[in-house]
Amino acid sequence: MTTEYVVMNEEAPDLSVIKRAGRIIKEGGLVAFPTETVYGLGGDALNPESSRKIYEAKGRPSDNPLIVHICRLEDIEPIVREIPPEAKKLAEAFWPGPLTMIFRKSSLVPKETTGGLDTVAVRFPSNKIAQALIDAAGGYIAAPSANRSGRPSPTLAKYCLEDLDGRVEMIIDGGQVGIGLESTIIDLTEDEPVILRPGFINKKMLQEVLGRVEVDSTLITPDSGIAPKAPGMKYRHYAPKGELVIIEGERDKVVSEINRAAGYNRAHGLRTGVICTDETRDLYDADCVKSAGPRGDEDSVARELFRILREFDDDGAERIYSESFSGGELGQAIMNRLMKAAGHRVVRTDEGETLHFK
Ligand code: AMP
Ligand code: MG
Repeated sequence: MTTEYVVMNEEAPDLSVIKRAGRIIKEGGLVAFPTETVYGLGGDALNPESSRKIYEAKGRPSDNPLIVHICRLEDIEPIVREIPPEAKKLAEAFWPGPLTMIFRKSSLVPKETTGGLDTVAVRFPSNKIAQALIDAAGGYIAAPSANRSGRPSPTLAKYCLEDLDGRVEMIIDGGQVGIGLESTIIDLTEDEPVILRPGFINKKMLQEVLGRVEVDSTLITPDSGIAPKAPGMKYRHYAPKGELVIIEGERDKVVSEINRAAGYNRAHGLRTGVICTDETRDLYDADCVKSAGPRGDEDSVARELFRILREFDDDGAERIYSESFSGGELGQAIMNRLMKAAGHRVVRTDEGETLHFK
């Protein structure tokens, strides 16, 4: 299959291309497209064959459910069994936007789309290209992130091309995404609303609308051995090819620990990558030093993280060290991704921990 690559401006989507892309999806094909969170790999959510193709194109395990994207509030009714009052409140506050809600599904949604579950994840994205495409495709697009399974989610269309060239009919390039982390997922099918995946819409924002909100316990203690409720969270994600370790603690200690490691690596012929901030970038002596932006600008850190992780692969970084980005409004969402990328390897310099070299 040849993949058609089209550049599009979100402010003025080319409707003839959108119409053609919509037809591709209606006929069972796949189109990668921009959303405000990350790029999505879209197929017809109500066609089991399309969902099978999505899993195949991504190389994704088929028990890992897809998110159904809609472009009108009223389109939710046919695909769910009931709409809890919490969902109405959340939709009013955060849709269109980077929030995914889990509902009990109706029979219209095939099990292929939900990874065999009786529940369905639904999101109404705010990106104008995404909205136009969903409409042109008949109203329901199943779309996971448009990366090969295990790789960082694409925040630029060129990464969709890198991962999916020859595997999808079309890629729509709408520029760099605004948020850069996948949507927040909240489960509304239990007694209490539960956050299954942290994102731009954080716990505090959700609590302001709903009152009580729980966080899935596997997000807090990831090594508990309990399976996370969002099936995708159990898979290793976002991993760069090099080994990534997070170095926590006071700035000077972090810098000197990373520089010590970089020196060791250099002496042993290994390339070192560093994820840092504008404030610290000049303090490092390593092969590939990448700043995610000013430390106070969490939006920048979120937006740049996946790009940086991918770039280390191109740079051939073999040992990668990252400063920590906890705290702040987006800290939980950023650290959730970074910890997964690091396979939960953390060195806490404040507690006297140091890196062990081998
Ligand atoms: P992605 O769009 O690639 O981030 O993948 C969507 C993620 O949403 C999956 O990996 C799941 O973790 C989560 N998800 C989708 N549907 C459900 C569901 N019905 N219940 C719980 N989690 C879900
Ligand atoms: Mg994904």
